[in-house]
Amino acid sequence: MAARPQRKLFSRKKVCRFCMDKDLTIDYKDHKTLRNFVTERGKIIPRRILGTCATHQRQLCSAVKRARQIALLPYSGNTQG
Ligand SMILES: [Zn+2]
Repeated sequence: MAARPQRKLFSRKKVCRFCMDKDLTIDYKDHKTLRNFVTERGKIIPRRILGTCATHQRQLCSAVKRARQIALLPYSGNTQG
């Protein structure tokens, strides 16, 4: 049995990126930023993974939805590409 070193790479406390960075805004037209918060399939990454606060997650959610409507982002669950 090899002893694996337990490195905690993500042990830092997650802080909401939008609260931290005042320059980072949630804009549905800014799909480049939005893409950082969705998966390749266009699914919104859950709050507990991102560490986004409730307020900003909600704004993010509506921004992503709006971006989907104008085809900037793919709809989630669309596995057929
Ligand atoms: Zn926040």
